Amino acid sequence: MSNFPIERFKGLKTPFYYYNMALLERTLNEAVKHSSKYGFEIHYALKANVNTPILEMIKEKGLGADCVSGNEVKKALKIGFTPDHIAFAGVGKSDEEIFLGLEHDIFSFNCESGEEIKVINELAQQKGKKARVALRINPNVNANTHKYITTGLEENKFGINPWELEDVFELVKSCENIELIGIHFHIGSQITDLGVFKNLCSRVNHFNKWFMDRGMILPHINVGGGLGVDYHHPDDNPICDFETYFGIFNEFLELRPSQKLHFELGRALVGQCGSLISKVLYVKKGINTNFAILDAGMTELIRPALYQSYHRIDNLTSNSNDKLRYDVVGPICESSDCFGKALLLPETERGDLMAIRTTGAYGEVMASQYNLRDIVQAEYSE
Ligand SMILES: *Cc1c(COP(=O)(O)O)cnc(C)c1O
Repeated sequence: MSNFPIERFKGLKTPFYYYNMALLERTLNEAVKHSSKYGFEIHYALKANVNTPILEMIKEKGLGADCVSGNEVKKALKIGFTPDHIAFAGVGKSDEEIFLGLEHDIFSFNCESGEEIKVINELAQQKGKKARVALRINPNVNANTHKYITTGLEENKFGINPWELEDVFELVKSCENIELIGIHFHIGSQITDLGVFKNLCSRVNHFNKWFMDRGMILPHINVGGGLGVDYHHPDDNPICDFETYFGIFNEFLELRPSQKLHFELGRALVGQCGSLISKVLYVKKGINTNFAILDAGMTELIRPALYQSYHRIDNLTSNSNDKLRYDVVGPICESSDCFGKALLLPETERGDLMAIRTTGAYGEVMASQYNLRDIVQAEYSE
């Protein structure tokens, strides 16, 4: 099992998120090593985790930022990401958020509809600015992932559909305060079938050619994020196979020498470095299984309740050799407040510390104060 500082944990108030900064650093080094050899640029998707020490390390490694709200843009600027490496995506940007991006001359607005383009053009005109825009195209590629985290199908709310592209392109050309710099895709999250990215490449080639046929070589192609992590074997596979992932894009994407390829990774960079550490409050005997009731619940980690997602759970302190079945649940007044059903765990008792693994991405950022609970805190490895 990953080396957790259990003695230190015993002195801390639970629950808390624990971040292994050495693992984060190794993960970032791998990602940068395998992307930079092709000249690819990675923007970190802030929405996965916005903790300051994590963002600072990511910035130090030279990554850019991918933001989906005005406050994320502000946070990225505060950390020191430079505006020319900040992309702003999202299907519903408010006027206030667009003004913020314009004011700081960010690298790109990733636009999702004709109406949004008109609004950005108008607001840019008011400020005497020219907005750099990439069109988010819905490529209709199935990501083979959970339906709530699939975003690249025609039935999803995201992006511009292919049959609208001609009209949107005409519109962009008529907008004096917009500079079209590229196209953008993001087809979903937690994608583990890498063949999906080959399909994405062939769709991107199609759209890239579409623009070339109309006399435009777009300087920037952005293929989004979505690379999945191994939730079942965090100790065997703590770092994603970045070599294969970036290799696929190098092999299958047809770029002109002047075109730069961008990625927006979230989960693959920060997922494995985080664990939610929680104490067992009570153990109840059930009929078919026992219940281990934790002091963490869906307020600290909502993914299992929201997406039926699996997280490995380790008992960090039990010395028992007997294994029993447990439903590991939280204290919240909702039946969906359950982290795992009928899990085989060493015999567990009140006071044991549990680690809910692979929770560095979309964990702490989604925490709430439902039931008027305290907001969960973070701890970092030395
Ligand atoms: C969420 C999101 C990402 C990051 O997704 P991951 O699955 O965490 O890599 C990238 N781009 C956009 C537009 C997003 O919405």
